[in-house]
Amino acid sequence: MSETEPKFATLAVHAGAAPDASTGARATPIYQTTSFVFNDTDHAASLFGLEAFGNIYTRITNPTQAVLEGRMAALEGGTAALAVASGHAAQFLVFHTLLEPGDEFIAGRQLYGGSINQFNHSFKKFNWNVVWADSTDPQSFEKAITPKTRAIFVESIANPGGVVVDLPAIAAIAKKAGVPFIVDNTLATPYLCQPKQFGADIIVHSMTKFIGGHGNSIGGVLVDAGTFDWLGAKHRYKTLVEPNASYNGMVIGETFGNFAFAIAARVMGLRDLGPAISPFNAFMILTGAETLPLRMARHSENALAVASWLEKHPKVAWVSYAGLPSSKYHELAKKICPKGAGAVFTFGLKGGYEAGVKLASGLKLFSLLANIGDTRSLVIHPASTTHRQLTDEQRIAAGAGPDVVRLSIGIEDKDDIIGDLERGLARL
Ligand code: PLP
Repeated sequence: MSETEPKFATLAVHAGAAPDASTGARATPIYQTTSFVFNDTDHAASLFGLEAFGNIYTRITNPTQAVLEGRMAALEGGTAALAVASGHAAQFLVFHTLLEPGDEFIAGRQLYGGSINQFNHSFKKFNWNVVWADSTDPQSFEKAITPKTRAIFVESIANPGGVVVDLPAIAAIAKKAGVPFIVDNTLATPYLCQPKQFGADIIVHSMTKFIGGHGNSIGGVLVDAGTFDWLGAKHRYKTLVEPNASYNGMVIGETFGNFAFAIAARVMGLRDLGPAISPFNAFMILTGAETLPLRMARHSENALAVASWLEKHPKVAWVSYAGLPSSKYHELAKKICPKGAGAVFTFGLKGGYEAGVKLASGLKLFSLLANIGDTRSLVIHPASTTHRQLTDEQRIAAGAGPDVVRLSIGIEDKDDIIGDLERGLARL
């Protein structure tokens, strides 16, 4: 074995894991237990007081979950991670750790629609106020900064695809404003893009997508890049810098240094709000993560082949995929995700709404459903499904106009994927 730092593909298989100490089991066991026995009451007290690391109760920690966290922290180059029940739960815990009522955060508006809802509606109930900027225009983030701004949030490759975000430019704006830069890296995954290298302080994922990769388990994670100086920050992030009454006055930022954010999200957010990942889902996602590099390379290669083929098809009006030289994000993609532009992209049909409905319903290999990041190829016609409730104007603004079809290209043989689309398009 090489003595140098293990490379990405090795980390994807091994990081965080070791043969089970008591049984020798090589695969990480599913620790399907609610609770863990203490040695004695002193041991219990030290665990509850955060004076020792160890397991108490699966809502807060679990050994299967811990291996997944070790793996994700390593793949993202962070200091620590926290795996939770879903991507949305990860976002919720990130903002719960950072914000106080009345605070603002800026988010690029090119986001997964569910995140737009979460920020616009549910977060408002906590008086956490989103201010929207344009992910394709870094200056719009600078203009949106106010004395109440406490974070900036973007997706690295924005869902529904095609938009690659200039992470270094937005990171510089966050740094100048003295606020953490949060990147949702779901579509890119750390195989294609490691946001920490471009200035991200916190990385989140819906592991439901490419990390698990097989469309069988919901999960999310937040990764602490270990880069943000909470104690020296321009603003007071209370959860990190104030004495904590539920931990005998401990200041989490002081005690846990460069992994304090991940600890705070666990021992305050997860403890009190409760969106724990089940050990079974952690196991499924961990198993998926082992093949992440192989799958992402194949997803990207297939997506480029399909997008290039579609671009030349007479019934296709346009294709938005950053892997194509014709994309206005192509140059940025070469810098941010040089190994490929991922699996998800949109294209427009000359036949408009009717053609979109017919194509999405008529494909055989593609599954018509509202997910991405499966080994299988997936299709959706947003205007007639996920974006049905919106007005035409709102749909177009969200990149879900009547002619738009979204694909998540799987890892099947690319000739079969193209063949399915060819037959589908011929029927229009
Ligand atoms: N972020 C992105 C980019 C997503 O695509 C999704 C889900 O589609 C989420 C976050 C939310 O993740 P989850 O469905 O695991 O809660």
